[in-house]
Amino acid sequence: MSRLAGLEQCTGCSACSSTCPKECISMIMNREGFYYPVIDHSQCTECGMCEKVCPVLSGDPMDPADHTKKAFPIEVWGAKALDDTVRESCSSGGIFLLLANLVLRSDGYVFGAAYAEDFRSVNHVMIHSAEEVQKLCGSKYMQSNTAGIFQAVREKLDTGDQVLFSGTPCQIEGLRAYLQREYDNLLTVEIICHGVPSVTLWQKYLDFLKEKREGTPVRVNFRDKCHGWKMYGLKIEFGGQKVYYRTHIRDSFMQLFLQNLSLRPSCYRCLAKENGSGADLTLGDFWGVRRIRPALNDDRGVSLVFVNSARGSKAFRDIQSKIICAPVAYEKAVAWNLAAGKSVREASLRNAFFADMEKLSFSALAGKYVERASLKDYVRLLLILLLRKAGLR
Ligand SMILES: Cc1cc2nc3c(=O)[nH]c(=O)nc-3n(C[C@H](O)[C@H](O)[C@H](O)COP(=O)(O)OP(=O)(O)OC[C@H]3O[C@@H](n4cnc5c(N)ncnc54)[C@H](O)[C@@H]3O)c2cc1C
Repeated sequence: MSRLAGLEQCTGCSACSSTCPKECISMIMNREGFYYPVIDHSQCTECGMCEKVCPVLSGDPMDPADHTKKAFPIEVWGAKALDDTVRESCSSGGIFLLLANLVLRSDGYVFGAAYAEDFRSVNHVMIHSAEEVQKLCGSKYMQSNTAGIFQAVREKLDTGDQVLFSGTPCQIEGLRAYLQREYDNLLTVEIICHGVPSVTLWQKYLDFLKEKREGTPVRVNFRDKCHGWKMYGLKIEFGGQKVYYRTHIRDSFMQLFLQNLSLRPSCYRCLAKENGSGADLTLGDFWGVRRIRPALNDDRGVSLVFVNSARGSKAFRDIQSKIICAPVAYEKAVAWNLAAGKSVREASLRNAFFADMEKLSFSALAGKYVERASLKDYVRLLLILLLRKAGLR
């Protein structure tokens, strides 16, 4: 019997299902709204390949001496794209988009998270043209399904194409475990990850918002910057000109996420974060910019970039003409970005929350669990709105 079943630390990376020679492992969404491997035991020959590539069961299956595991970054930067339209489509400083364009210009392939057509879920996809790259831009706050994508990555690597694979630390770790060897033509880019919220919760929320608005979503942006990067908001455009917008401090889905109620169990003890995923580059929000590098701050988004390998360093150098950047001390950077160094703390009501999610409507769920924003947050928001109205911001 495979040890995969019921594995609490499973991240749903899909290395096991991608490896199975019998193709008898499917990634299925559980009741909480997270993907887990399910084995068809009538086909399973117990060859053990799935356990061998599972990053949780096998530890690091690649040579740790050969990579960056557990090491501190080689360099740490605050960086932003010179082109404001690049930053507009991205969550922080737009560094991901510049890296993606770099690989696309060399006729390469970029893999990352994109919404499904109906915006009810997120999947990893492959793109090969600059026209498609917008699909991958921006943070989508739910677990992305990687089922089947690792095979496509290997196919491109084996034919010698340049490949950029981006995702959460556990997805990078899963890909590397699946590949079982280093490739010179692979650049891996992880995001600093707070944790991934439930897809089912997102679907429940969309249904709740749709009830009042009719029509289907035509665009979703979790990190709309109309009130600035720091006061980002969730914007959903429904057909028929109807738009939902709320800043993250007033949006219930975002609050459940930031209160650590709606995350996958493995996110509360993220082994990929603790041990290092082996990614060449790490991208996050440089939340400490105003204190650490005020000259970079214009409230339109600045990325925090960890350069973890020689390959990452080369890629970062290759986009230098398109960015403004300044070095940052690692300790200072992570002091302002807690998710960079450690897992978030599990909310004490997390399990009760998920039990209620199955029974309650979204509004009842939010009424029961969403903590009201603090007075300080409301005053900050009010101030931003007033300054904007007066044209001072
Ligand atoms: C679930 C989640 C939690 C995050 N938590 C933090 C945090 O706590 N602190 C912090 O500093 N930064 C966090 N980030 C990262 C941050 O929001 C930016 O994505 C990052 O700074 C890169 O920004 P960018 O402007 O360079 O490019 P962007 O265009 O914003 O980056 C897009 C990249 O994010 C990837 N991506 C988007 N959604 C997903 C997803 N659901 N699963 C896997 N990959 C995805 C895409 O593949 C692409 O590589 C989080 C992102 C996500 C998706």
